[in-house]
Amino acid sequence: MKTDALIHDLGRIVGAEHVLEAAGHYLHDTTLTMGLRGEAEAVVRPGSTEEVAATVRHCYEHDVPIVPRGGGTGFAGGATPTQGGIVLSLERLARVRSFDPLLWRIEVEAGVRTHSVQRLARENGLAFPVDPGAAEESQIGGNIATNAGGPHCFKYGVMRAWVTGVEAVMAPGEIARFGGPVRKDVAGYDLLGLLCGSEGTLGIITAAWLRLIPAPPVSLAAAGFYSDAAAGQEAIEQLMASGVQPAAIEYLDAATLAICGATFPGGMPADAGFLVITEADTSEADFAELVEALGPGARTPDPRALWRWRDSVSLAVTVSRGGKLSDDIAVPVDRLAEAVERTVEIGRRHGLQACSWGHAGDGNLHSTFLLDPGEPAERRAANAAAEELFALAAELGGTISGEHGLGVLKNHKLSLQWSPAAVGAHDAVRGALDPKGLFNPGKKLA
Ligand SMILES: Cc1cc2nc3c(=O)[nH]c(=O)nc-3n(C[C@H](O)[C@H](O)[C@H](O)COP(=O)(O)OP(=O)(O)OC[C@H]3O[C@@H](n4cnc5c(N)ncnc54)[C@H](O)[C@@H]3O)c2cc1C
Repeated sequence: MKTDALIHDLGRIVGAEHVLEAAGHYLHDTTLTMGLRGEAEAVVRPGSTEEVAATVRHCYEHDVPIVPRGGGTGFAGGATPTQGGIVLSLERLARVRSFDPLLWRIEVEAGVRTHSVQRLARENGLAFPVDPGAAEESQIGGNIATNAGGPHCFKYGVMRAWVTGVEAVMAPGEIARFGGPVRKDVAGYDLLGLLCGSEGTLGIITAAWLRLIPAPPVSLAAAGFYSDAAAGQEAIEQLMASGVQPAAIEYLDAATLAICGATFPGGMPADAGFLVITEADTSEADFAELVEALGPGARTPDPRALWRWRDSVSLAVTVSRGGKLSDDIAVPVDRLAEAVERTVEIGRRHGLQACSWGHAGDGNLHSTFLLDPGEPAERRAANAAAEELFALAAELGGTISGEHGLGVLKNHKLSLQWSPAAVGAHDAVRGALDPKGLFNPGKKLA
């Protein structure tokens, strides 16, 4: 279909002012730091579920690819339009449809930002524990589509655990509802679970019912510095054996500390080779147990300053060389130190500075290769290093993605960790729910 005709037709559905020229931030997510930018015929910003359905119907009829876009904070190129078509931005679906604090539940449209749900919960004595690092920009729809995690998912579980229902537009433009405000529902197949982590390849999420919990009584954080990853691994295992369930266990390796350590609240020891951060959200007594488990070097900086600092790590690493390829492999927690050390070795073999940090309790590493995005040779080296990293994750019995999804960066890699039959089941599901292959083509699966 000709672009002018497409823009005209879509303008009749959503209003001409909501069909934009495809430009600027709509053409990329955070993988721009490694030079990934797409092209599209238009950006479409529907204002209601019905407008999303009509847009999908039109695109489906005319074979136009549809790339759903949330906050654009993804780390896998999932929202980048790599095969043309339209970018369907959910930003105008930003209403809280209902909020029942006494029943611990909220129903929001897909474009509501993660931070807004967290804030609304907090202001009402509740908590929404899913806390991906870019919560001020990421959207609930994007969080569901990536099945997002974050530091507190160690205790509370990733996004899937907090969604009781999803409203979505499925091919060829039908509005469907999976689950709802009910807390238990085993009547059908777990299609709700299927949409969590579907990365825009099965349909467009337009709204969700989320679970909330009463706000934890305390938020006390502590940090321990260690000489190397092996010593840090021991501390992590001590935390898990302490009898207290930590709300989070995070880590930074020596190379990340070399970049960010100077601004650690209260200062960092000169010989620090590994950092473990943990939090208790239950009681002072539990916190004391965790501090003891961290060992003699434990410190207790102001928790807000500590988490602010932790939140700044990803950006600080990016700006250190201007770009990075940051992955999110996860390994069994007892293999963490090995994965940390081998990440650095892989980088060295490819002539790249490498570092990692992440969600230690989940064995989830943000293994990162630093690069200058203007240097194609470095980008190629980083891609080659990432291939080795994925093989490492598989070798250690882990996964190539613990929380960011496969997007376009790893769209042909599922067979590294799944059997041919399991990969075939993925292809069959996608074929059944998106027979024309128009929902985010080229993403997640090859
Ligand atoms: C500084 C920083 C820290 C981060 N820390 C974490 C972390 O700790 N844990 C973590 O899990 N992630 C983290 N992320 C990654 C990112 O924030 C998450 O993946 C987030 O869930 C993406 O949400 P988004 O709204 O920005 O989605 P986008 O980037 O816009 O899209 C992500 C994918 O979801 C699809 N999608 C988006 N909205 C919809 C919808 N409504 N319906 C269907 N498909 C849709 C897109 O097509 C794409 O495939 C971090 C990112 C940054 C920049």
